[in-house]
Amino acid sequence: MAVPLLDLKAQYATIKDEVLREIAEISDSQYFILGPKVEKLENEIAKYCQSNCAVGVTSGSDALIIALMVENIGPDDEVIIPPFTFFATAGAVARVGATPVFADIDPVTYNLDPAKVAEKVTGRTKAIIPVHLFGQSADMDPIMEIAKKHNLIVIEDACQAIGAEYKGRRVGSIGDYGCFSFFPSKNLGCFGDGGMVTCNDPEKAKKLKIFRNHGQSGTYMHDFVGGNFRLDALQAGILSIKLRYLDSWSQARQQNAAEYDALFAQADLGEKVSTPKKANYPVRHIYNQYCIEIADGKRDELLAHLRELGIGCAVYYPLSLHLQKCFAKLGGKAGDFPVSEAATGRIMALPIYPESTSEQRKSVVEAITAFLK
Ligand SMILES: *Cc1c(COP(=O)(O)O)cnc(C)c1O
Repeated sequence: MAVPLLDLKAQYATIKDEVLREIAEISDSQYFILGPKVEKLENEIAKYCQSNCAVGVTSGSDALIIALMVENIGPDDEVIIPPFTFFATAGAVARVGATPVFADIDPVTYNLDPAKVAEKVTGRTKAIIPVHLFGQSADMDPIMEIAKKHNLIVIEDACQAIGAEYKGRRVGSIGDYGCFSFFPSKNLGCFGDGGMVTCNDPEKAKKLKIFRNHGQSGTYMHDFVGGNFRLDALQAGILSIKLRYLDSWSQARQQNAAEYDALFAQADLGEKVSTPKKANYPVRHIYNQYCIEIADGKRDELLAHLRELGIGCAVYYPLSLHLQKCFAKLGGKAGDFPVSEAATGRIMALPIYPESTSEQRKSVVEAITAFLK
């Protein structure tokens, strides 16, 4: 049975009428940039993420960049990030001219290991960017403690984790900023690129709004050099509709993950496959990805085999960021971040999208079992 990694058409079919009506309304208004639709979404997202404020921006990557810009982080500054994440986390730091400083991850959650973060703090450190990878929160309490002790800004990269919780609190509401992406493959995706920055401090929110519009504080009056980071009304309108379904979609993902867990337990593959592990602190995991680990160097062979069968799977992420060519000047070497490097060789994402079926999951696990047994 062919199983796509993600099927956005299946989800669109369930909301098509509402979405087309919204698009028609916005088209009739010809009000496209920021405006009431964006403000409405900002209020809804702030509430959903338990944050005081939210500011709509052009993408998750730009959400990270604008948070760094508002904090005036740039050349001579260091920002601590995990080496095992989507490139944008590191790219944003480099784009503002600051230096990404990697700290290894925890093998259970793939998120920043707070003990490793503490070792990386120097006199130049300005911020920490914990990533809530795959939809599971990083261990925020010890990270916030380190930040407090050294007076550092915490920017949560929550691009894969909208609605995820840490000890009962929504991610994006814990640090100084929360950065969200509405890229179509995220749990809440728009019809193009889009993003949001949450924060609790209204002064910071005000500055974010100035920066997203070329640093303009009055008409054609520029106190800062910002950029064009404006979210548009069509994306905001579509997102407001989709947000109403987000909890049911995230619950379906949790249910699908539980089914995979049970199927792999039944398949009894021993050490050959390990299913995703829950953090040892209370979380609400929203499973933007369901990633298993394959032992014995068999991952790439299995991946090729599944693709031949029409089973969608992907590697998030195949190369630790400290080994990327563009960061060669930072001097990263193989062996520097053993936990991250081990994960890049073993990890593999399976189809987990809300509309996928139990039959599909069974055939995925059967194919993996037949190959590895
Ligand atoms: C998707 C993603 C981003 C970037 O979001 P875009 O909207 O694609 O720019 C940043 N960080 C992480 C961890 C992501 O998954």
